[in-house]
Amino acid sequence: MTRAEFIRDYAASSGIPTDWAELGLLEVRGKTKIALPCACERDGCPGWALLAADEVLDHLEFRAPEKLRDAYNDAVSALDQSSPRA
Ligand SMILES: [Zn+2]
Repeated sequence: MTRAEFIRDYAASSGIPTDWAELGLLEVRGKTKIALPCACERDGCPGWALLAADEVLDHLEFRAPEKLRDAYNDAVSALDQSSPRA
């Protein structure tokens, strides 16, 4: 399932407009949510998770695919190490 398909499926039953589905975004009750790859291994998981901004960090650290988790952690620690603090 593509990301846009996941968003369209998610929105279909609720009648939510999917104007930004191709970008991986969906607006739910005035809040923008983003679809990220999911590796939670729950039954019925479509391989995507739809997350509010405040849920993204938790997802990246605990339920994102290992490759995405590693890339995220590597990128953050690389920047943390190259940014001297006063
Ligand atoms: Zn999942």
